[in-house]
Amino acid sequence: MGEVGNRESKAKSLKSVPGQRHPGLDTPVQYLKGVGPKRAAQLAKVGVTTVGELLFLVPRRYVDRSRTLPIARLRVGDEVTVFGRVMASSERRTRTFKRLVSCMVGDESGTIEAVWFNRPDLAGRFRPGQELMISGKVTAYRTKQFVNPTFEVLDRARELPGANAIIPVYPLTEGLSVWAVRRMVRTALDKYLEQVPETMSRELLEHYGFPDIRRTLETIHFPRDVRAAERARNRLVYEELFYLELVLALRRRRNTLARKGSRLVETGVLTARFREKLPFQFTRGQEKVLAEILADMASDRCMNRLLQGDVGSGKTVVALYAMLVACENRTQAAMMAPTEILACQHFAGWSPVLREIGVEARLLTGSTKARERRELFAGLASGKVQMIFGTHALIEEKVSFDRLGLVVVDEQHRFGVMQRAALLNKGRNPDFLVMTATPIPRTLTLTVYGDLDTSILAEKPAGRVPVVTRIVTEDKRATVYEYFEKRIASGEQAFFVCPLIEESEKLELASAVRTYEDVRAAFPRRRVGLVHGRMRSEERQEQMELLRQKKLDILVSTTVIEVGVDIPDATMMLIEHPERFGLAQLHQLRGRIGRSGKRSVCVLMIQPESVEAMERLSYFASTTDGFALAEKDAELRGPGQILGTRQHGLPDLRIADPFTDREMLARARRDAFRMIELDPYLREPRHELVRKTLAARYAGREELLRVG
Ligand code: ADP
Ligand code: MG
Repeated sequence: MGEVGNRESKAKSLKSVPGQRHPGLDTPVQYLKGVGPKRAAQLAKVGVTTVGELLFLVPRRYVDRSRTLPIARLRVGDEVTVFGRVMASSERRTRTFKRLVSCMVGDESGTIEAVWFNRPDLAGRFRPGQELMISGKVTAYRTKQFVNPTFEVLDRARELPGANAIIPVYPLTEGLSVWAVRRMVRTALDKYLEQVPETMSRELLEHYGFPDIRRTLETIHFPRDVRAAERARNRLVYEELFYLELVLALRRRRNTLARKGSRLVETGVLTARFREKLPFQFTRGQEKVLAEILADMASDRCMNRLLQGDVGSGKTVVALYAMLVACENRTQAAMMAPTEILACQHFAGWSPVLREIGVEARLLTGSTKARERRELFAGLASGKVQMIFGTHALIEEKVSFDRLGLVVVDEQHRFGVMQRAALLNKGRNPDFLVMTATPIPRTLTLTVYGDLDTSILAEKPAGRVPVVTRIVTEDKRATVYEYFEKRIASGEQAFFVCPLIEESEKLELASAVRTYEDVRAAFPRRRVGLVHGRMRSEERQEQMELLRQKKLDILVSTTVIEVGVDIPDATMMLIEHPERFGLAQLHQLRGRIGRSGKRSVCVLMIQPESVEAMERLSYFASTTDGFALAEKDAELRGPGQILGTRQHGLPDLRIADPFTDREMLARARRDAFRMIELDPYLREPRHELVRKTLAARYAGREELLRVG
C-alpha cells in the first residue's frame, strides 16, 4: 500500500518541483512533523502534496507590518492591507436577500467596516478583541468599507519566535492560517533544505546577481526585508520562464530550422485563375500576410506560422490561397476546423470556385458515410484528392496522404498539441499554418506561441460597419423585440444566443429549448430555427443552410455558432445572460454579425443581479477591437485562464505572471534562445546542469519537446 502511495506522489512532484528528483523532497507532506491528515488535505487544495512542493509554495506577496497605514488615513480606492481589532460583528440579510456578514475593525486611529456577501462559512467567525490583517480595496457605503476582502486572524501566541515584521501572503487555503503555513514551512526548511539541488546555471545566476536555490527558498518564506523577498521571488520567476522559453527555443529549432521542408513556390497556374474568380480584391493587409506566408513556403525550411486576425478579417481566403500554392507544386493541402459546422462552411463556400479552377477538393467529417469515406481515403492516398477540408476526422489513423505539403489549422486554440502533431505527422515535414480569431496579447505570443512566427491581419475588408452594442435590462425586452421585428420585416436576420450553462449540457439544452419556445411565442409570424450541441450534425447543418438561404428569420442557438459562422444578412444578435460569457467568447459571438455593409446591433440582455459584470460588459460594448478586448480579458481573468500552457504541452506557470513579469519574460526569452543558438544540444559542460534539469522535468514526455 505504502509503495503505491509513494509512486503517486513521485509522479506529482516531478511535474511541479523544479530540478532533479530527490527522494527526500518527494516525502509526502503528511509525514512532516506537525502536519496531520487534516492539514495535508488543506495543503493538497493548493497543490502541495510533498515536502518539495511545500518548499516551493511561493507567497503571492508580502505585507510589511511596519509600513501599513493607520485606518484613519485610508482613502476610497486604496488597495491596502491594514491591521486592527474586531470591535463588533453581525450577520443580516440585505434588501435583496443576500446574506451578509459584517465586522467593524479598528485601530488607535479609527474604524472601518468589512463586509462579506454570501459567505455562510464566515458566520460566527469573528469575536470582539480578535486581531485581523485585512487586505482589499477601500470603498464607501455610508462608512468606509472593505467588500469581500481577504483576511487573516492573527494569533500572537502562535507566531514563530524571531519572525519579523514581513508577513508572507500564501495562496488562499480555506482554514489554513499564515501562521500554520509558516510553521510547516519552517520545519520543512530545517530538515530538507540541504537536499534541494541547484537548477540554474551558475553563469546566469551570477549575471543577474540572483541567490542560489537554498538561499532563495529560505528568503521567500522568511525574508529579512521586502527587497530581499522580491529578489528571491524574481529568481524563481526568471527560472520558470527560462525553462519555458528553452522548450520553445528547442521546438522552434527542431520544427523550423533543423527540418528540411519542400520548396513550394507560387507558379500562378491555379492562383491567377483564383484571383479572377474572387468577387473582391485582397486588402493590403491580406496581401502583406500572404507574402509572409508564401515566402516561408518557398524557402526550404518548414513553415511554422501563426496567422492572427480579428473575426471577419478574411483569414480563410488567405489560407486557401496558400493551399492552392501547395497544390500547384503537386502536393496536397489540408484544412482542419474545430467544428463540423465550420468545416462544412469552408467547404461549401469554396468548393464551387475550386471546381471551376479544376482543383479536386473534398470534405471529411465524423458524419461522412462509410462508402464515401473509403473512396476518399483512396483518393488521398493516391494523390487524386488535392485539397481536403475537415474536422478531427482528418487525424484518424486511416487517413494517409500521398504528399502532404501544407497543413492549415483554423481556430487552433480548440485543438490540443497532440492533435496538431497528429495531422502534421501525416506528411513529411509539411508547412504548417495555424489561424486564430481570438486575438492574443503580445505577451502570450511570446509564451505559448513563442515557437511560431507570427503574421497579423490588422485591417478588415472595407465597407464593414462596426457593430453597435447595447446593454439592455429585462424591462426593455419588449421594445427590443419590436425593433427586431421591424428589421426582420425588411429582410434582415437575427441570432438569439442562449445562456451558457457550463456545469451541465442537459440544463443547457433545456434552456435552449425554453428560449426557442419563448422566441417563437414572441415572434409568431417569423420562421425560427434552433441549433444546439446535442443535435445531430446533419440537423444542425440543415438549420444553418436554411438560415443562409433566408428560409429562417431567427436562429436560436447555443454557443455552437460561436466560431467562424458566416451569414452576411444576419444583422441582429441578442445574447441572454451575457455575464456568463468571457470577453473573448462574447467577441466571437458578436463577430457573427456585422459581416455586410449594413448596420448591425448586438443586444446584451442583462439581469438586474449581474451588476458585478457591468465593468466587463460596458468595456465590451465600448469597443470592437479584438486585441484591446484580449488584453482586458487577460487583465480581468488573470493569465492562467488564457495561457492554458499545459494544453500546449508546456510547463505550467506556477510563480511567474507573464503580464506583470513582462520584463523578466523578455530576458528569459533572450537568454534561452541564445543558449540554444550557441549550443543546440546543450552539450557544453557549462550547460550540463540546465540540460539535466530540463531532462528531469520532461522525463517521459520528450515528445512534447518535439511537437508544435
Ligand atoms: P475570418 O477571418 O473570421 O475567418 P472570413 O475568412 O470568414 O473571416 O471572412 C469573412 C468574410 O469576408 C467572408 O465572407 C469572406 O468571403 C469575406 N472577405 C474576405 N476577404 C475579403 C476582401 N478582401 N474584401 C471583401 N470581403 C472579403
Ligand atoms: Mg475563420
